[in-house]
Amino acid sequence: MLITCPYCKTRSSHEFSYLGDAALLNRPEHDAPERVWTDYVYLRHNPRGTHEELWYHGAGCGAWLKVARDTASHEILNVELVRP
Ligand SMILES: [Zn+2]
Repeated sequence: MLITCPYCKTRSSHEFSYLGDAALLNRPEHDAPERVWTDYVYLRHNPRGTHEELWYHGAGCGAWLKVARDTASHEILNVELVRP
């Protein structure tokens, strides 16, 4: 799989680390039940089709990227920098 980094251009996905779902999670209140915390920490959607993911270009420029990828075909649909 190839990912086009905005700084380094097209590179092998081996240069990147997958960091998970790019969707924002709502952190539970500190006193939420353990089940709610378990879901927050461990449960993620695993869709077939377009999915937005965070990737880190660790063997390149060190940028954090939000990558829209088709999980069935692995086609990269969009890449953008993650800004704080
Ligand atoms: Zn890069």
